[in-house]
Formats: sequence, C-alpha cells, structure tokens
Amino acid sequence: MAEGLLAGKRGVVLGVANDKSIAWACAQECVAQGAEIALNYLGPLEKRVRALAEKIPGTTVLECDVTEDEQIEAFFAQLKEQWGKIDFVIHSVAFAEREDLKNPFIQTPRKNFATAMDVSAYSLVGVCREAAPLMTEGGSIVAMTYYGAEKVLPNYNVMGVAKAALEACCRYLASDLGAQGIRVNCVSAGPLRTLSASAIAGMRKMLKANADTAPLRRNTTVDDVAKSTVYLLSDMSSGVTGETHHVDCGYNIMGLTLTEEA
Ligand code: NAD
Repeated sequence: MAEGLLAGKRGVVLGVANDKSIAWACAQECVAQGAEIALNYLGPLEKRVRALAEKIPGTTVLECDVTEDEQIEAFFAQLKEQWGKIDFVIHSVAFAEREDLKNPFIQTPRKNFATAMDVSAYSLVGVCREAAPLMTEGGSIVAMTYYGAEKVLPNYNVMGVAKAALEACCRYLASDLGAQGIRVNCVSAGPLRTLSASAIAGMRKMLKANADTAPLRRNTTVDDVAKSTVYLLSDMSSGVTGETHHVDCGYNIMGLTLTEEA
C-alpha cells in the first residue's frame, strides 16, 4: 500500500519535454508521494518522454496536443477506460514563438498572439472540461504560471498576457467546478532553466536579478515547485481554490531593491 500525501490517488501530468521540465519534477514528486500518473507527449517528443517515463514503472504515456480537442478527448477517454476516475491534473504547458520573446511586445503578430493564448491559456479550459467528469470523488487541478502575468518583465511579452489569461481562467474554472469538489489553482514559479525558458531573451540576467532580490537570496528550484504543487494536489490544501500561489523565494513581495552602489 502506497504512502504519502497522494497515496491511492491517480492523476495526469501534462508538459514533460525533458528531465529539466517542471512537469518532470512534479511527476517524480507525485509518485514519491504515492500517486500513480499518466504523462502526455507532443508528437515529436514521444521517444524522449517514453524514455523518461520508463524511470517510473507503471506510468501511462499517451499523446496529447492541447490545441487539438480530439486529442484531449481521446486522452481522457483512454484514462476513463483504464482507471475509471482520476484525482488530479497538472497543467505545465505553454508556447510562444521565439521572436515574440525578444522583440518589443507591440510587434506581436495577431496569429502568434492567438497561438500563445491557445496553447498556454485556453488549453486549461479544454483540459478541465474533459478531466472534470472523471473526478467523480472531487479533485485538484494545478496550472503553472509566472509573475510576468502581474507585472511587466523584460521580453516575457505575449506570454505575460497569456499567463494573465491563464490565471483568470483558473478563477473562473474554480467557480464552475467548486460545487463538484474540484479545486483549481495556479503555482506562480520563479524563473527556472528549462527548454521553454531558454526561448526568453536575457534569461541569464533575469536569474541573477531574481537571486539577488528574492528574500530567500536564491533562485527557485524545480523541487520547490514540485513540493508546493503536491501540497495543492493533496488534501492538505482542501480549502484552497482559485488561488495563484507564488513559489518564487518571495521575489513578488519586493518593491524597490537598492543595489550596493545606490
Ligand atoms: P518545458 O519546455 O520543459 O515545458 C513546456 C511543455 O509544454 C513541453 O513539454 C511542451 O511539449 C509542452 N507543450 C507546448 N505546446 C504544447 C501543445 N500544443 N500540446 C501539448 N504540450 C505542449 O518548460 P517548463 O519551464 O517546464 O514549462 C512548464 C510550464 O511552467 C509552462 O507553463 C511555463 O510557462 C511555466 N513556467 C515556467 C517558468 C520557467 O522559468 N521555466 C516559470 C514559471 C512558469
């Protein structure tokens, strides 16, 4: 019999690309806390995700491009057949074109804006719609966001707008699904070196500024994010929904920071 905060629970972790992914750290922590999990992959990443999944025996791996309704439906239909019900979903998925994370925001083309919103915000709605009917005994859904939703951060641009939409989606979904005992929250993670983050111009400088400014005087780790995500998935957060929970070493509470020279 599994032990841990998620003992006996089954859930979905969306967004593993490689071993640096926030989703991969979350997947490992969920399993360490007693859960059984299913991962998705985006077409070309199948081999890489399957190779990683082999490190966690018993993990289900299925295709799911979150921009395709049919793929979301098929993903959850397969899990319904396999498990009957699910207890949690982690949404750790986002995309914006590389040029839009470098050029001034005002230059964002209409098409690229729509793509970023579709993959990074609307997908939470599509996923919740298919996941909720499987959460017959209640459930918990967590989506990954970033401080660029709240404040202007260099080069984050259209992704900041998409994250603001994601956080608003989280609140509306929490309102819709609360009566079914399903909670929906966001984790706002500090900057982390991952595949997606490598597309943001100036990431190295941003990491240094964060570590220098954050009250904990260090950068956030994927482990920090995974542990707080498990808290939100577990019954330890039973009264929390519609929340954006910062896991950023406290960076977001700071106003002006004076440098040595100032
Ligand atoms: P990552 O590149 O490892 O993960 C992003 C994932 O999104 C990948 O697995 C990719 O396959 C998936 N994805 C993209 N388009 C998809 C689609 N159409 N269908 C299905 N999957 C798709 O990077 P990450 O940093 O681990 O990002 C995970 C989440 O965390 C994202 O929402 C990101 O915005 C958020 N986040 C990242 C940071 C950071 O600094 N790295 C900080 C805060 C929040």
